[in-house]
Amino acid sequence: MKAAVCREFGQPLVIEDVMLGEVGPGDVQVDVAACAVCHSDIHYAEGAWGGYLPAVYGHEAAGVITAVGSDVSDLTVGDHVVVTLIRSCGNCSQCDRGNHVFCETSFASDEGQRLSNDAGEDVQAAMLCGAFAEEVIVDQSQVVTIPKDMDWKVASLLACGVITGVGAVTNTSTIDDRSTVVVVGAGGVGLNAIQGAAIVGAPVVIAIDLADEKLEIAKQFGATHVATPDTAREVIKEATGGRKGVSHALVTVGSAPAISSALRYIEPGGELVIVGMPASGNEIEIDPVIIAAVGHRIVGSKMGTSQIRRDIPQLIEWYKEGKLKLDELVSGTYQLDDINSAIDDVADGGTIRNVVMMG
Ligand SMILES: [Zn+2]
Ligand SMILES: [Zn+2]
Repeated sequence: MKAAVCREFGQPLVIEDVMLGEVGPGDVQVDVAACAVCHSDIHYAEGAWGGYLPAVYGHEAAGVITAVGSDVSDLTVGDHVVVTLIRSCGNCSQCDRGNHVFCETSFASDEGQRLSNDAGEDVQAAMLCGAFAEEVIVDQSQVVTIPKDMDWKVASLLACGVITGVGAVTNTSTIDDRSTVVVVGAGGVGLNAIQGAAIVGAPVVIAIDLADEKLEIAKQFGATHVATPDTAREVIKEATGGRKGVSHALVTVGSAPAISSALRYIEPGGELVIVGMPASGNEIEIDPVIIAAVGHRIVGSKMGTSQIRRDIPQLIEWYKEGKLKLDELVSGTYQLDDINSAIDDVADGGTIRNVVMMG
């Protein structure tokens, strides 16, 4: 099968012929229809977080099940599924507490590489997926069935960007219909945090971004107010009727200074949710006496603390009811052969989500 392989960090991906391994007892094989390009794929391909090469990235996918392992009982060939990187056993102490994203169990699939090529070389299926390819083999826990009439490119977005942004609101944070919310960053994840806050009924949702065109889009996703970092304090004051800050701030950009600033946006008793991931090694200065004295809560949100089989059907429901925008998140579609253009266009910053179509 065809796959986009990273051979050297910072270099274009190479389209190569790669072979899948065996379908293990707990695995499913999926014919990938669409895979969106996430910033994490780009960071990995640039070498920002290290990792084994050669590798196939891509972890925001949707497609059709073509084979199931002997232990798989609730999925069948022909099912349409979203493919995610969240692999969970359902039984460990983290899974028990609902933290599927931190599952502690090791899986048979950890043992070997699932991909190889004609030269006998092992190729890493990165982030437990490797979905910049025509097919993937993943653990059954990583997929969720979707309606057969659902558009592939829209479905693929549910695997990462949407659950990360909406889940940060609905799962990780305590935002409800009395909350005043700031969302820092109006990119792919930020827009989903904004629409998540709007869906739970937060009366004030303020989008903060440097780019005016992103702020315009943020309004379509439910932002009641918009601001740049320079005007943020003023807009927060006006939007909250003169209060000292908002009850909740979510930082969706991977920037340590943005996190420091956001701490100053929240009022006493408020909550700061860190969603975006800065490069390793960044630090922020916090004066603990202030945190204690004003009762701030600081929480991290990984993949929206999602439980995919609970959350993705709910998101699809909201999409069908017209509460959740998905089509509007797709800014371009590309064929696998043109994946480097899809990546370059995301890296340039103008796009929300580019989707690679395998068919
Ligand atoms: Zn992602
Ligand atoms: Zn587990």
